[in-house]
Amino acid sequence: MQSQHSNSIVNESEQRSTGNFNPVLLSFGGNIAGTLERFERALQLLSQRGFRILSVSEPLINPAIGCEPGAADFTNLCVLGEWQGTPLELLDLTQSIEVEEGRPADHPHWVSRTLDIDIILMGYVKIDLPRLKVPHPLASVRDFVMKPAREILPEDLIKFLENQAEIYKKEDKF
Ligand code: ADP
Ligand code: MG
Repeated sequence: MQSQHSNSIVNESEQRSTGNFNPVLLSFGGNIAGTLERFERALQLLSQRGFRILSVSEPLINPAIGCEPGAADFTNLCVLGEWQGTPLELLDLTQSIEVEEGRPADHPHWVSRTLDIDIILMGYVKIDLPRLKVPHPLASVRDFVMKPAREILPEDLIKFLENQAEIYKKEDKF
């Protein structure tokens, strides 16, 4: 088990040799009319394209934080699943689904969005690539991620996520 905990990826070529990225926790969010239907379609697209869905949390409504004034509330949920490809292949997949569901590829941060899919966790692997940080640095301080995560993520991985938050704090990643 210990060696699993020390797995980390800091350059792309290491992705192929680092065994097990499972289970994977994704976070979905959106605050433009039709979000639940978009979540349904995104789940279908994920499973059609090789992401095996194990469980989906209840959707929760949360106030928009940091978006433009008057932004509508967000709907958020978490998805637990399995992925046999590399982490960047999964990011390519989630980003292509965001675009297919109406989010511009060059979207700015902190604005209303049709669909945001974040990769929160990939087993015990730590990833620090320019395009992908896992565990997601802000996940453990966001109630809209942690609340649905606690519904479906095994307790040992919740602890790993919380511990990682402490490490990020020390490294000044927030
Ligand atoms: P936010 O999710 O905070 O609204 P975006 O969805 O706009 O931000 O993401 C911006 C960038 O974050 C993406 O281009 C992606 O490359 C990068 N990124 C880094 N780590 C992750 C991760 N764990 N999950 C999703 N995107 C990530
Ligand atoms: Mg995102």
